[in-house]
Amino acid sequence: MRPTIAFLFLGVASLSAADAPLRALLVCGGCCHDYAKQSVILRDGIQARANIQVDVVISEDKGTKPWFPMYENKDWAKGYDLIIHDECAAEIKDMAFVGNVVNVHKNGLPAVNLHCAMHSFRTGTDTWFEFLGLQSSGHGPQKPIAIEFTDASHPITQGMANWTTINEELYNNLKVFPTAKPLALGNQDLGSGKNATAVVAWTNDYHGTRVFNTTLGHNSDTVADERYLNLVVRGALWSCDKLNAAYLKPYAGPQGRFETLAVPAKPAKEAGAGDPPKK
Ligand SMILES: [Zn+2]
Repeated sequence: MRPTIAFLFLGVASLSAADAPLRALLVCGGCCHDYAKQSVILRDGIQARANIQVDVVISEDKGTKPWFPMYENKDWAKGYDLIIHDECAAEIKDMAFVGNVVNVHKNGLPAVNLHCAMHSFRTGTDTWFEFLGLQSSGHGPQKPIAIEFTDASHPITQGMANWTTINEELYNNLKVFPTAKPLALGNQDLGSGKNATAVVAWTNDYHGTRVFNTTLGHNSDTVADERYLNLVVRGALWSCDKLNAAYLKPYAGPQGRFETLAVPAKPAKEAGAGDPPKK
């Protein structure tokens, strides 16, 4: 018996050292997007590329105020190495609630923010936008976006080739905070000689915490695009300071939790064709 037990202990010790998977929580749900599909694409796409276990909490509320009860607790992120915000919750304005969301990141927990997360938590203050590093208020028509990586030396975008998306939403940039570092520009040909350009991927230094953001990802086919998933994965690992060969390998552990939050009793708004209206 003794040698077997010793061997088991050794196995546990070596796993907990360099190769332990990161634990991520993907929070999604709300208005305007197929989160049932995109949550699975993201979870599986990330786990196939990086040694990250992705837990999912998804709200079935299709309105602009999907409530995530866990955010009422200031310790909501306990046990996680990374949070992936993919909410679409423009009308959640409760400062204490939003304070709980950002404070875990202010206290050092890395984050990745995707697409409609940028248009969430419009409290009338800069609380959420300071965390993102950029403020956006809306987007134009769905048209292809030509993505140009503007910092070839950054670890996240190193070696990545420019590409053009399918029809997508280009989020405008009302304000880029000094803590943000743009990594990619998106350009949309709007026809009639008109163009729109905006930062579509950037990092933010949020009180010393690494945050990666991309406004891309309205349509599920964009989210499933391997170039998009590679970008998100590299941003996720970078935010955890684990963008290296040891973590750029598939997650091989058991599937994590997948928690679905039912629609609350009050009637929820139906999903529309686009994102929340401009502020
Ligand atoms: Zn969208």
